[in-house]
Amino acid sequence: MTPLLLSRLHFPIHNLGFGCRAGIWFQGCTVYCRGCISRDTWPFDPARGSSVEDVLAWVRALPADTVDGITISGGEPTDQLDALRELLAGLDDWRAGYDRPVDILLYSGRSSEHLDREFDWLADSTDVLVSEPFIAARATDCALRGSDNQLVRTHTDLGRDRYPEATLEDGYREQRRSLALHVDDRSVWMVGIPLPGDLRRLEHDLAERGVDLTRTSWLM
Ligand code: SF4
Repeated sequence: MTPLLLSRLHFPIHNLGFGCRAGIWFQGCTVYCRGCISRDTWPFDPARGSSVEDVLAWVRALPADTVDGITISGGEPTDQLDALRELLAGLDDWRAGYDRPVDILLYSGRSSEHLDREFDWLADSTDVLVSEPFIAARATDCALRGSDNQLVRTHTDLGRDRYPEATLEDGYREQRRSLALHVDDRSVWMVGIPLPGDLRRLEHDLAERGVDLTRTSWLM
């Protein structure tokens, strides 16, 4: 079993990529972008221990004919290299037998120069790679990017078809920009990239509905 520290698994999500997606969020990050909206994913928390095999089993159990893509984020996926590499290989095997095209979109807070130098195999293992650290002062309304310094690179025909470069300047508006809230007994958590002020508005709206947030993933 290959260990993988896991923040969360999400399905279905309809943002952070094309169509209906499954989300795999790694736990642990050493990039430390100021203003990160996922502060809860920074610690390499052993209590979040899982394995690549368990995550792949979850993916294989997703409903047939529903998944258009897998989004991998975190946390910083490249901080768990062995797990990431094995996960990507397993996802590639799985999607080869799936009943519709599935793109793999990976978020990394590392620079494209660093990724190309240290992990050039990522270009062969993903359809789309969004790189560069998040810079809070450069917020953008582009659906796929948290800040306008971030790069969206496509590596395959499927990636180029679903995420055409010509639409980047237009903010990939055909990709839905939205925030999804997921709730369980103890937690409310968010999938998506908020614009400045969104989180304060969210806290305010929840407070008006009687939901008191004692701890949030973006201010830990
Ligand atoms: S934005 Fe991503 S890469 Fe940057 S600190 Fe937050 S989790 Fe890490």
